[in-house]
Amino acid sequence: DPACAAPLPVLGRDVTVPLVTGGEVTYAALDYAASAPALQRVWDDVAAYAPYYGSVHRGAGYLSQLSTDLFENSRQTVAEFLDCRDGDQIVFTRSTTDSLNLLAACLPADCQVFVFETEHHASLLPWRDAQVTYLNAPRTPEEAVTTLERALADRDPYGPALVCVTGASNVTGELWPVRELTAAAHAHGARIVLDAAQLAPHHAVSVRDLDVDWVAFSGHKLYAPFGSGVLAGRADWLQSAEPYLAGGGASRQVARRADGGVEVEWHTTAARHEAGSPNVIGVYAIASACKALREEGFDTLVAREQRLVTAVRAGLAEVPEVKVLSLFGDDAPRVGVISFVVQGWNSSHFAAALSAEYGIGVRDGLFCAHPLVRTLLGSTPQEPGECGAPDETPGSLNAIRVSFGAGTPDEHVERFVRAVKEL
Ligand code: PMP
Repeated sequence: DPACAAPLPVLGRDVTVPLVTGGEVTYAALDYAASAPALQRVWDDVAAYAPYYGSVHRGAGYLSQLSTDLFENSRQTVAEFLDCRDGDQIVFTRSTTDSLNLLAACLPADCQVFVFETEHHASLLPWRDAQVTYLNAPRTPEEAVTTLERALADRDPYGPALVCVTGASNVTGELWPVRELTAAAHAHGARIVLDAAQLAPHHAVSVRDLDVDWVAFSGHKLYAPFGSGVLAGRADWLQSAEPYLAGGGASRQVARRADGGVEVEWHTTAARHEAGSPNVIGVYAIASACKALREEGFDTLVAREQRLVTAVRAGLAEVPEVKVLSLFGDDAPRVGVISFVVQGWNSSHFAAALSAEYGIGVRDGLFCAHPLVRTLLGSTPQEPGECGAPDETPGSLNAIRVSFGAGTPDEHVERFVRAVKEL
């Protein structure tokens, strides 16, 4: 039964942490949505490569050549992982935030941008120099599509436009109707970028099937280390724009001009936006994680994770003081990311108690999605001063998020449910 497959081995499985009640316990990392633990396989691959690493695209030495090959082959691995189209470019960045800021820097003149207020700040904020339309939070996936369609219908149909949408919410874990939003965008001549930071670690993402124009994700949420990310998709806007960073690697030729200035011919490949010595280890780690997830198979990963989602939902539903946050309703499909508030508790104190008394690491706060969390908590009646109370006192407007994935053993989820019930 794929739903009962063993978790993938990850780093940190044996880390023990002290409890305030005395003794120690193995750490239950239930904050995958912030950063997932690296796969053991990624660590092993990186360790095997580390003695051989060298500068890429520069050296004539054997190890430089080897590193260049691994670096460039990693693009191919990521392209296969995302099922990209011929001609799509894979640009290595630092993170999803970096990828979306890069795309924002590549928008054509007079581009209109459409983004739901429910986005993570990384998807919400990079477009502020363009003409942005912020769309109100929809309460069903269908309403998301009609809201977007209505906004696009009012726009100048001949000007360039971009829609930015998340695949899975980092707050509610809910899946967004990416295929339908993409169809709506394209029907109105707009392009679309998918923020897959929370989707790619949990579901297969096919650029070809979804028909999105770009996809962004981060290595550290995909079981690789920090510091590397991906922007994949259409080459044209990327190659018409000035390089994101000016420097070596992005420039094909540089020469002094007769007038004393410098003349630069920039690359028209992904290298155009990868100036400077790249994060070879981080890129290789992303490629290793992509291979590991594909080999395990998303059918198995999804089946197993959904079993854990069901267990957490069922456990939380038994506690009347718990309210799970959701835009699209309790039965909406979601990844292993669940946020909630507990009546009578400040969320920060609750998260601290999970850590101190049970060795469970979750996140509390507004999850870099302030407008979304405000919308979700605004519809939750609370006593003043309690978590979710609609005042702006630091620490009072916040929620608790539990998140998990391919490396999570059943015991972590069981301990979490027991802890919530006891608290
Ligand atoms: N988008 C979403 C949906 C996210 O959850 C996150 C990270 N929490 C980001 C973007 C930004 O990712 P990073 O911090 O790796 O740039």
